Amino acid sequence: MLRIPGPTPCPEEVLQAMTKQMINHRGVEFQALIGSITSRLKEFFQTKGDVLILTASGTGGMEAAVVNTLSPGDKVLAVCNGVFGERFAAIAETFGAEVTRLSFPWGQPDDPDAVRRTLASDKSIKAVLVTHNETSTGVTSDLAAISAVVKQYDKLLLVDAVSSLSSIDLQTDSWGCDVVITGSQKGWMVPPGLAFISMSENAWKAHAQARMPRFYWDFAQAKKYLKSGQTPWTPAVSIFYALDVALELMANEGLVNIFARHARIGQKTRDQVKALGLPLFAVEKYASNTVTAVKAADGLDTNRLLQILREEHDVILAEGQGKLAGKIFRIAHLGWVTETDIDAVIERLRAALPKAGFSAAST
Ligand SMILES: *Cc1c(COP(=O)(O)O)cnc(C)c1O
Repeated sequence: MLRIPGPTPCPEEVLQAMTKQMINHRGVEFQALIGSITSRLKEFFQTKGDVLILTASGTGGMEAAVVNTLSPGDKVLAVCNGVFGERFAAIAETFGAEVTRLSFPWGQPDDPDAVRRTLASDKSIKAVLVTHNETSTGVTSDLAAISAVVKQYDKLLLVDAVSSLSSIDLQTDSWGCDVVITGSQKGWMVPPGLAFISMSENAWKAHAQARMPRFYWDFAQAKKYLKSGQTPWTPAVSIFYALDVALELMANEGLVNIFARHARIGQKTRDQVKALGLPLFAVEKYASNTVTAVKAADGLDTNRLLQILREEHDVILAEGQGKLAGKIFRIAHLGWVTETDIDAVIERLRAALPKAGFSAAST
């Protein structure tokens, strides 16, 4: 039982789709496949703009977003509240942007008012980087409020939605998100290998001016090839097969129902974790519906806990990343997940906790 925030489990029919023979990625079959997938992805992005599919993990998508919209020396505000926000900032720095970090304590959401104050005091900022769902801490920030501020100041908004899009509501167009990035192995019930990225008209305008070096990621190429139903370079064809089936499953369930299921399961996970006597790491109002971070308390050794769960209970949970190593563990509940799955995780957690040093009385 794999309950980490990506790669996530895939339904059998999604896996089966990948046993299909290869096709010509410059032929009519692939043209039909990418056309149909792209138009369905737009519905999940809630956008009428462009969505590009890259053969990459989520980080590749983040790098592509940066190098296609920015130039060396551009002033960028990186809003950070965890490992992935730091990664986004580091990517922009690597390519020569002048990055200012607006950091919030890990476990807390990004504060829209602080973003407003920063943008008001520094008119030279060109773009804002935001993590919608900070997977390392289990926090979902109020992206609608943040994007309203960023749009008020008419800045470019780049959003890491790798672990939220498809599972948590994200209205790309109505919130004015210029570039939104997600990855196939998170909420999409598909193996790793593809990143999906939306580009607004403003983002394309920025692209026309952007001078950061790029070759594999060049969106001018991606857009040109997409017109004829292709990608510039050889795509992960098998993952396209899988995505085709997953999108059908997702369309059958419906976007609103998928969001509701994640909200229900997120709440259930938090309730059950607390009932075990364990504290949540994230401030509860902003706790993520795709991943729950649990604080180590009352003598709990998280490494030992994850080992016992893996070896004796066939459950794989995620450790804390970066400075949170040993301080938290994480239960992922995104993509192909049911309430029964969470019941099973909690039951095994309850059995494993005392052996991992946890001393509080559990129910
Ligand atoms: C998983 C994840 C990424 C990207 O990770 P990859 O391993 O490159 O796919 C980026 N941001 C967030 C918030 C994530 O959860």
